Amino acid sequence: MSSVAQHTNIILCSACGNEAECNQQKFYPDNGWVLPFDTFGYYGGFSDDISVLVGERRSREWILCHDCVAKLLSVFPRLTATLERGLHNCENDTPCCEFAWRATSIFGKYEHNENGKLVPVSGAHYQVVENGKWIDAKESAEATGE
Ligand SMILES: [Zn+2]
Ligand SMILES: [Zn+2]
Repeated sequence: MSSVAQHTNIILCSACGNEAECNQQKFYPDNGWVLPFDTFGYYGGFSDDISVLVGERRSREWILCHDCVAKLLSVFPRLTATLERGLHNCENDTPCCEFAWRATSIFGKYEHNENGKLVPVSGAHYQVVENGKWIDAKESAEATGE
């Protein structure tokens, strides 16, 4: 019996030039970012591309790998502060970066309450990263009163 080879697309990161795997999306790297940079500009700004701004053509894109997104966010904490914690999923024992989240063992599990209604199992359902370690997400614990 032959096994079917898993086909993984590879894309080069626009920033570092390293190969990044595309398992979740065909042309975008896992846990990366796509920045349509021609749309950043405006008349009198750092750059402008009127053909994009008036809708004549689509913006070109920078495609960033996970590590370059993490690097970008680390360099500009004021930008990072505008984002929620737990930006992407990581199921590793050691978090891949400070922006990851992971599900706990009760994530997505339900139980019947005293009225027989199906409700989420109480407790923290996901974890975020603090000082390089996984901690239960406060938001998740608060939602259930624990
Ligand atoms: Zn990169
Ligand atoms: Zn990460």
